[in-house]
Amino acid sequence: MKVPLEIWKFGGASLADEHGIRRAVDQIALHRGPLVVVASALAGVTDLLLSAAPDAAQTFRAKHHAVARAIAKGADRDRLIAAIDTSAREYEDICKALKMLGHIEPRARDLLVSRGERLSSQLLATAIAGARYIDAVDVIATDAAYGNAAPEIALTAKRARKVLLPLLKAGSIPVVPGFIGRAPDGSVTTLGRGGTDLTATLLARSLAAKCVVFWKDVPGILTADPRLVPDARVIPHLHHREAAEVAHYGAKVLHPRALIPVSGTRITLRIRSFVDPNLPGTEVAAKQSLKGYPVKALAILSSQAVVTVAGKGMVGVHGIAARTFGAVDAASVSVSTIFQASSENSIGFTVPNGDADRAVVSLRKVFKHELDHGLIDGVTSRSGMAVIAVVGEGMAGTPGISARVFDALAAGGINVVAIAQGSSERNISFVVSEQDAPEAARRVHAAFQLSKIGGGRPVSKPHTDVVLLGYGRVGRALSEQIVSGSNDDVRVIGLLDRSGYLFDAKGLSRSRLKELAKAKDKGALLSSLGGKKASATDALTVISEHAVSRPVIVDVTSDETAEVLNTAVGRGFDVVLANKKPLAGNWESYARLLDGAASRGRTVRYEATVGAGLPIIDTYRKLDESGDRVLRIEGCVSGTLMYVLSQVSAGRAFSAAVREAVDRGYAEPDPRDDLSGRDAARKGLILARMIGYRGAPPTAHDLVPEAYRQLPLKEFLSRLEELDADWKKRTEQEATRGSVLRYVVSATPKKVSAGLLAVPKSSAMGAAEGTRNIITFHSKRYKEPLVISGPGAGADVTAAGLLNDICSLGPA
Ligand code: ADP
Ligand code: ASP
Ligand code: MG
Repeated sequence: MKVPLEIWKFGGASLADEHGIRRAVDQIALHRGPLVVVASALAGVTDLLLSAAPDAAQTFRAKHHAVARAIAKGADRDRLIAAIDTSAREYEDICKALKMLGHIEPRARDLLVSRGERLSSQLLATAIAGARYIDAVDVIATDAAYGNAAPEIALTAKRARKVLLPLLKAGSIPVVPGFIGRAPDGSVTTLGRGGTDLTATLLARSLAAKCVVFWKDVPGILTADPRLVPDARVIPHLHHREAAEVAHYGAKVLHPRALIPVSGTRITLRIRSFVDPNLPGTEVAAKQSLKGYPVKALAILSSQAVVTVAGKGMVGVHGIAARTFGAVDAASVSVSTIFQASSENSIGFTVPNGDADRAVVSLRKVFKHELDHGLIDGVTSRSGMAVIAVVGEGMAGTPGISARVFDALAAGGINVVAIAQGSSERNISFVVSEQDAPEAARRVHAAFQLSKIGGGRPVSKPHTDVVLLGYGRVGRALSEQIVSGSNDDVRVIGLLDRSGYLFDAKGLSRSRLKELAKAKDKGALLSSLGGKKASATDALTVISEHAVSRPVIVDVTSDETAEVLNTAVGRGFDVVLANKKPLAGNWESYARLLDGAASRGRTVRYEATVGAGLPIIDTYRKLDESGDRVLRIEGCVSGTLMYVLSQVSAGRAFSAAVREAVDRGYAEPDPRDDLSGRDAARKGLILARMIGYRGAPPTAHDLVPEAYRQLPLKEFLSRLEELDADWKKRTEQEATRGSVLRYVVSATPKKVSAGLLAVPKSSAMGAAEGTRNIITFHSKRYKEPLVISGPGAGADVTAAGLLNDICSLGPA
């Protein structure tokens, strides 16, 4: 064969439904050259089959029917439907029989679950042009360890060549179910959960393929499980041996034994994103790479128990270790990590939580004599533990690795229960309590700067990468301040708008940002300006997979962006806001954002949401940190309302003041957005929540009378004069009492309000004019309030507030 053979494996998560199957079919159609396809069961099907629930057969049938109907027609469809029905019926029968037998033998269970892969593969084979379905039992030979069978490599190679090579020569694409094989007696076996990975590598070895591609719902092998370490990044290259360690320690991304068939060969493994095939993914090959990273990945194995055999009588007595593991093996429990203290008076190892009791019973039996005679003090187990394996080829010979690991843990006050270093020096594993595991993993991940792995060597000088959500007036002013400032530690690496995103890991240049601003002024969208079309969530996913440094998302939209921001936080971003909406919705969504960030060690800053660049939140923080207690924050937080009301109190007609506010660009294009008080109320709510308010958002006092609220804008503006007389009357009335009208928000830990208030003309709020904001803090120490006042609106001052927040996130 001239063009080298490839094996493509499609994971269950990718084959979720008919869309997944179609996508796989499309990808295969684009491929040139000989190909063998290996398929997992459709997403969720293996679990469903194992559940043997009363309606499992029905769900199983419906799920596959839907796919068959969507992808096939005529005779093909009839054939598939018949196969599905037979499989579902058999499954139902077996389940019924099992109910009577009371329990399920591993052998019967394997037969039960094998139908998931068999059907998904038949579906795929029908949908792929030129494909042929080949049952795995005709190819994959295994031992008889049902549920977790080991392959017979030589026999498999012989069968694979015999069955598959003629098909490949004839130009067809064999489609083989993953996960299943045949025991010596001809019955069906399975290779253990996730076993399709192993089927693929076995076939690669058997057929001397050049490359195995695992199409996954993740973009590659990441430096750690992204659900626990949000900063996790795609590792561009791994050695076979490193991938094997990662897999062995339970990173779900690869079957624990998937690397065995290819180790020692020149076969390359590629883990690629099924969602975005343009991403490079991870290459696993027999070569060393990324020399700057002695540590490349962490694997986190949860739900473990530490079993310990302890006693002074063990010292110097040989054979204890052998008998210990003999006992564990006799109970069919598999051990992931072994520890022995150098004093030799204890041996410890980890096993899955659920196997601990069996291991302990078996050990007590084996050591009955020693226990009875006090030579062994006891056999104990402690559940709720996690093993974290720190993996990297370069650890061998690099001094100080374990010191860095344990310094990082010590700095976090994390208690390490046990430590083991493999003699290969390719891995250090340690045990911590399950609750501590995510924090421990994040700390070790940070200690080795693994979040920068995609970009070559770690950068020695950390910097901040800014992604702007929105590129309007404030966004542009901010990017201008970033690129023209003296602070070259901050870069703008991405812009997002409704259409898509633009991303440059090296940072967008000043001229590029200017050019984009100009084009956007003319109404162009980012997706047409060299960017990519994508939802904000997808864009953040792509960006976070690159070697970004201390990423910050800056929200300068006025949209409901809570979902996007939650995604960003989950992807390792800090958040800086000018947009008030994500903080001014219901309590649940507010708490979700802030608590979600806190639990991941991320920061949310929002100085620019109130009073633009004025240091309001900063002042609060300082008071709070110094032990003062803020009782009430009160003030005028709307530049537009201050402008209109101060003009009116100086004798101007209301209509003229509103029109001028619009003309000068202070007010929103529809001034009712400001006059409604909603914006001011949002700011009040943000301040109140900051000092402990948990209640509902306040209702703003609307300055637009009911009858005018729904009018078309033009008509509203033309009828403004109708409101003048009333305003004049109220203003004059207040003047006789030495008061003026101001729109005031008031926030306490118990209450928040926004409305029109008469204040003494001589007070700070009464004396203010123009678009000024004025905020007063009443605290335990400040009986006479602390007043902050200054320009509360404008793109430049808002941008300055944002930049201040960005810089305050500080070095990593
Ligand atoms: P497939 O269906 O393709 O076999 P899996 O669901 O078995 O895929 O494996 C992918 C899952 O593994 C991801 O969803 C991710 O949550 C988890 N995972 C754990 N550790 C890692 C890691 N280091 N890199 C990538 N994914 C990981
Ligand atoms: N379908 C099997 C499982 O869910 C095998 C696999 O997906 O690789 O474990
Ligand atoms: Mg899998």
